[in-house]
Amino acid sequence: MATSRGDQIPQSLVAQLEKENADLRARLTDAEGTIHAIQHGGVDAFVLQDRGEHRIYTLVGADRPYRRFVEQMQQGAATLHEDGTIVYCNRQLSEMLGVPHEKLVGAELQDFITPEDRPLFAELVRLGRAESAGGEVRLTHADGEWLPAYFTFNVLPEDGGETIGVIVTDLRTQKHYERLVVAQAALEDADRRKNEFLAMLAHELRNPLASIRNAVSLLQREGVEAPAMEDTCAMLHRQVGQLVRLVDDLFDVSRITQNKIELRIERIDLASIVGQAVESIRPLLGRLGQELMVELPPKPVHLDGDRARLVQIFANLLDNACKFSPEGSRISLKAKTESSEEGSSREVAVRIRDNGIGIAPNQLPRIFEMFAQVDTSLERVTSGLGIGLTVAARLVGMHGGRIEALSEGKSRGSEFVVRLPILAEGAPPPRPEEGAEATSPIYRILVVDDNQDSAQSLALLLKCMGHETKTALDGVEALEAAEASRPDVVLLDIGMPGVSGYEVCRRIREQPWAKAMTLIAQTGWGQDEDRRRTREAGFDGHLVKPVDPEDFLKLVKGVSGRRGDD
Ligand code: ADP
Repeated sequence: MATSRGDQIPQSLVAQLEKENADLRARLTDAEGTIHAIQHGGVDAFVLQDRGEHRIYTLVGADRPYRRFVEQMQQGAATLHEDGTIVYCNRQLSEMLGVPHEKLVGAELQDFITPEDRPLFAELVRLGRAESAGGEVRLTHADGEWLPAYFTFNVLPEDGGETIGVIVTDLRTQKHYERLVVAQAALEDADRRKNEFLAMLAHELRNPLASIRNAVSLLQREGVEAPAMEDTCAMLHRQVGQLVRLVDDLFDVSRITQNKIELRIERIDLASIVGQAVESIRPLLGRLGQELMVELPPKPVHLDGDRARLVQIFANLLDNACKFSPEGSRISLKAKTESSEEGSSREVAVRIRDNGIGIAPNQLPRIFEMFAQVDTSLERVTSGLGIGLTVAARLVGMHGGRIEALSEGKSRGSEFVVRLPILAEGAPPPRPEEGAEATSPIYRILVVDDNQDSAQSLALLLKCMGHETKTALDGVEALEAAEASRPDVVLLDIGMPGVSGYEVCRRIREQPWAKAMTLIAQTGWGQDEDRRRTREAGFDGHLVKPVDPEDFLKLVKGVSGRRGDD
């Protein structure tokens, strides 16, 4: 029997041929698959690895118009393989990321997302794989900056869910526009508040001015009886006080916005602060027939603070408690020492409570904002500019304390709590030296002011208090009057036409006859820088207008006392 040649082929060769045959079949199936995919638009490009380099072969053909369209889109566009690899991306996406096109294809898109947004990105891809999804995610640019972008993910239908189409919209312009809109709204709000404030200011100034004009007309009439005269003078005093308060508030607010308030810290006793604040609102309490109950800790409480500013805080809160409560109601001020929040130090909590109109919950958070007022109608019964609480809050903060507003709502009363750090309880504070003598000396005073009414009214007042006075209305006149009359004290305005108050002071100081003369500056400016300038010019003291005659005389006495000691 003849043997076939096949019998002579070794088995190993047969096996090798069969394996090669199987390989060829597999590669043929692959190639057929690729051709099928190309024919059906499922492949955009080939990425070949060639000695570590990416080579991209983009297919152009029947889908050329579609590609052009995608390339010209404003948005970034990409297709992702199911493992997240970028198969295709347009020029805009590459520009958005600052990464060359050839480095993007074959890379993972999530590597260009900020690390914090990657979980959200993964979730969007997951949802997009199921159907479609969209969301805001931040991209990292090659220069390290991030940019906001909106991503939409869609399964590309012809790919049987294997490939995801991504559209990326750069949100920078939109965000910039949104910020502009917010800034514009804030500006409009500030402008509205400013206009409201100016209307309120005009209103607040008009009230006392109207009363003052009436009072002056009344005093000009002949035959005004003594009681009517006294009432009118008391009213004048009150209304001028109101004007001075408004001007002081305005001054404070401008300094607060520029962070220019400075504290004059001394060791003080809480009871004296509260006492002074209560005194300042006594007339209001009396007019409204209200009762104030004050409760202080049994032992004295001492703190380091600015006396005038602390009085201002409590006076403001008490004033509000009276203003916003009905006539005849009860107001309380209770102070209690307690441990601070962290428990490491002691503080005093001063609670001022009223049974008045209360504050609605939605108003509470903004009550300490500048110009915040619950009722801004000009017909409202209370007065004020909406500055007091802002100033109080800032001053409390500057003392290392906190302020809080509480109210159970409209018509349920309000409570303001001020917490301040304290030094010690019980120990007496070092007493400031007090003037030994009680008698007031009589001075010869030259009042210099280019505002004739100011100069003459103050001189008249000082004369009524027993002093000898003269006035001068400019620098030259002041120099002549000082030389001619050799007064004990010159109260000198700073801003005058011609020779300024600084210059007048310097020239007087050069004179041998002015050695013992006391020179006090009176000016509208009271910041430390202004005080330094007047001191350097040779002044002995500095007072802010309107000058209170009592303060002036106290200052002169202090200066003369120091001179006597030297
Ligand atoms: P002003 O009293 O000049 O309006 P404030 O800054 O002192 O300014 O107060 C701001 C606003 O807070 C007031 O206009 C008022 O609406 C509200 N407010 C302050 N204190 C009280 C209070 N004790 N009860 C009710 N409302 C108050």
